[in-house]
Amino acid sequence: MTVSPADSSDISAAREAALIASVPTGLLIDGQWRNASDGGTFNVYDPATGEVLATLASATSEDALAALDAADKAQFGWARTAPRERAEILRRAFDLVTERAEDFALLMTLEMGKPLAEARGEVTYGAEFLRWFSEEAVRDYGRYLTTPEGKNKILVQHKPVGPCLLITPWNFPLAMATRKVAPAVAAGCTMILKPAKLTPLTSQLFAQTMLEAGLPAGVLNVVSSSSAAGISGPLLTDPRLRKVSFTGSTPVGKRLMADAAHNVLRTSMELGGNAPFIVFEDADLDKAVEGAMAAKMRNMGEACTAANRFLVQESVAAEFTTKFAVAMGALAIGRGTEPAAQVGPLIDAGARDDVHALVRAAIDAGATAVTGGSPVDGPGYFYPPTVLANVPNDAAILRQEIFGPVAPVTLFSTEGDAIRLANASEYGLASYLYSRDFSRLLRVAEQIEFGMVGFNAGVISNAAAPFGGVKQSGLGREGGSEGIAEYTTTQYIGIADP
Ligand code: NAD
Repeated sequence: MTVSPADSSDISAAREAALIASVPTGLLIDGQWRNASDGGTFNVYDPATGEVLATLASATSEDALAALDAADKAQFGWARTAPRERAEILRRAFDLVTERAEDFALLMTLEMGKPLAEARGEVTYGAEFLRWFSEEAVRDYGRYLTTPEGKNKILVQHKPVGPCLLITPWNFPLAMATRKVAPAVAAGCTMILKPAKLTPLTSQLFAQTMLEAGLPAGVLNVVSSSSAAGISGPLLTDPRLRKVSFTGSTPVGKRLMADAAHNVLRTSMELGGNAPFIVFEDADLDKAVEGAMAAKMRNMGEACTAANRFLVQESVAAEFTTKFAVAMGALAIGRGTEPAAQVGPLIDAGARDDVHALVRAAIDAGATAVTGGSPVDGPGYFYPPTVLANVPNDAAILRQEIFGPVAPVTLFSTEGDAIRLANASEYGLASYLYSRDFSRLLRVAEQIEFGMVGFNAGVISNAAAPFGGVKQSGLGREGGSEGIAEYTTTQYIGIADP
């Protein structure tokens, strides 16, 4: 299989170059874009071609501390701004991101590889956090009550937690930033954002948009860097930092939690997943296939919510697998800027090799590739949509995050088996259930250990819903009314017989 060449794109090279040239390349510290203290830089690449897209300043430890100086200096005044003022900045940011949707979408396609249609979807989803938290900013309620003994009163209020370090992954370059920045702004926190080094351009443009929306200097600082640990290390041991919010892999999250213990920091951890997609024999199989495509192929499978294990009841397994493989095999692979492309490249060569190693190991253990299964030739890191049948229950591909367009199918006989298999994972982020029996859906949801459950739905992320996991998928929730609470502390005032 080959990939069509990049020059068949209907987005002109000049348009791409002009967009890249409009992205700030410096570090954002105290409202100013500046070079790294040692003049260092790093390159950002197009995963569809392997070519350099841009060169950015690479923040040093000294720059990280300068960003914390700015965040700390801004915190006192920012915490005292009117919630309505913060809400209006977020609302203007929503309008600006929406107006520039095509720029944000193309930038994500260029640096991350996802097809333009998906990138546009991420702009809509990512921008929604700005609008949602503009609405939540003015609704962070406290309470006033009488003690059970009578007379004395209890006053409970929320305050911003203080300067936060926000660390984001490469797979959703806009949404992962807005999901953290918007509630932090709403709550009145200042921030240091450290985007993934593979996809920092979207965060650079987003930060500029926040300034245009009226965010004061020092509230949001951005320290893109080729050295993640060089940034987090000095910040996590500085007592001025009060919180770290991280989205990324479980091993890095564990390391950051250990480092955060030094100053007993508040932490929010959005970590890895291993989502089961359970198809019961009473499901609408066409709807299940449609949902499976969305749950598996969103972002080429490079999503923490991606369906990672397809558990199908024996009596419908053959029909489901055949229909699913036909739909997967029909997807068009190509550079994300090509109008027909439905499957872009994986993020880098290592990611593609890791996905293929899991597929090889599953096949060696007895699985069969119903479609796909071999890497794609040509420049860029493409892997074909793959469906594996007869995957043994102990295969590594069922235990690890695949992070690619590969769907292992395994069978179960009873509802109890499905629940046991679903829970046989150290992860507990997203899960998907397909059945026409609502009682069964509720019964199974009660018994599975996952932070999020989709009923006959392949996509469940929504700014109004609390996103997050249990077990080793993390701590805390982003979005919903829970999202702002991650950025506030509770203060109680006891009032004697007023
Ligand atoms: P990653 O853990 O390698 O990196 C995430 C971020 O952490 C990046 O900014 C990276 O530069 C930084 N980082 C890496 N090592 C660090 C260190 N020692 N100290 C400080 N920062 C460090 O993850 P990734 O490959 O960018 O993203 C993929 C992972 O993210 C997957 O496991 C996926 O499931 C997870 N993810 C989770 C969610 C969620 O909401 N639960 C959402 C998206 C992605």
